[in-house]
Amino acid sequence: MESVPHKITRMTSELSRDASLREAADAAIPAALADLGALVRIPSVAFPGFDRAEVERSATAVAALLDDLAIFETVEVKTAVISETGQPGMPAVIATRRARNGRPTILLYAHHDVQPAGDDALWDTPPFEPTVIGGRLYGRGAADDKAGVMAHVGALRALVDTVGTDIDLGISLFIEGEEEAGSASFAQFLSDNADALRADVIVVADSGNWDAVTPALTVSLRGNARFTMGVKTLEHASHSGMFGGAVPDAMMATTKLLSTLWDDDGAVAVAGLLERDAPTPDYTEQTLRDEAGLPEGVSPVGRGTILSRIWNKPSITVTGIDYPSVKNASNTLTPELSVVISARVAPGQPAAEAFAAIEAHLREHAPFGAQLSFRDVDLGDPFLVDTSGWAVAQARATLEAGYGAAPVDIGVGGSIPFIADLVREFPGAQILVTGVEDPHARAHSPNESLHLDTFRNALRSEALLLAELNDTTV
Ligand SMILES: [Zn+2]
Repeated sequence: MESVPHKITRMTSELSRDASLREAADAAIPAALADLGALVRIPSVAFPGFDRAEVERSATAVAALLDDLAIFETVEVKTAVISETGQPGMPAVIATRRARNGRPTILLYAHHDVQPAGDDALWDTPPFEPTVIGGRLYGRGAADDKAGVMAHVGALRALVDTVGTDIDLGISLFIEGEEEAGSASFAQFLSDNADALRADVIVVADSGNWDAVTPALTVSLRGNARFTMGVKTLEHASHSGMFGGAVPDAMMATTKLLSTLWDDDGAVAVAGLLERDAPTPDYTEQTLRDEAGLPEGVSPVGRGTILSRIWNKPSITVTGIDYPSVKNASNTLTPELSVVISARVAPGQPAAEAFAAIEAHLREHAPFGAQLSFRDVDLGDPFLVDTSGWAVAQARATLEAGYGAAPVDIGVGGSIPFIADLVREFPGAQILVTGVEDPHARAHSPNESLHLDTFRNALRSEALLLAELNDTTV
């Protein structure tokens, strides 16, 4: 019977702790948004051909924010070597504080590099100029994933405001600098820094939510297989009037070949690509039209429930082509061309196996004996999160408290290939995939934006989770 009053006292103190945390989290928002704006102004694109100095500048800015918290034993900007090339990877920021008094250690992940802006003309506001319109903050990286960085920093600020800097919880941050560019040195970075990064719970803040008001835990991710295919049908170019109609040009062969990748419903038609059989929540065609920008009169593609098509089945997209541009079009039979093919792989199928199936399909269906070549193959395995751990239950509870709505378990059609690396390096850790995006965030696209209420709720939830773990003995 002794435990009953003890439990009641603890709950009362927890309630008042949570109330002050919530206040501290809300008070942390203006500064977090100002710091987010400053990060968005740095065009930290880690792709080849972009200025590496900007990625370094953004790493330094993130390190300064972590230093200012005054809770870490170490804050460093570091790189690891890319094993394939021997070149240094992009600068990441790593901060550590050891656990005390039997408390767990949490590792907070986000990335400070961003996608290129693409065509500036497609943006309604300048991509690297943070702009608030209608409750959203616009800018490249405003959501993916500089808001993830600031959700961590803001939640830590709220925690320090509430419990002080005398924290028992072990806390590490790993803010990557090359996630959008393929995380080439990630595995090496993990093994170089395994002791600093080892944790009981890992929060990967690089995913999304069910909608602007309903939080989500991401429990499955598709993998990816991306490659460049060369198609050659002629030894040299010719006047299209001289030989057109008697020999195939590269575009003719390519369009016929690519059309075999999908059936009449637009579903992937490649033998050997697997699907996962799992239930999905209700999601209407109207919501799909609204979130994806699909106009009336244009039909969706694929079969089965809409979310099963996005979460549990493969997809194939042609994302680039090297071919004469409209401006340079002349009456010529083009002898060869290259296309980039980007496939999403269903949870459960290794990406290498999926790529092998697609390559075999393309070779088998090449029309007129067209010569195919494959290069720049980039593979990332899909992932299914183990949701049986105690930290998952705590995360669900704190998400519900922070958003005021119960979280939904979601799959994600996109890929976070490094999660497989994290699990390999730290098999005992519980992984929580969360995020600040909502379905209108348009990550990777023009007019990327952050929903400000979602950001506040995410920051609140994370502060509550940190406090909860700070009171948990393992
Ligand atoms: Zn991201």
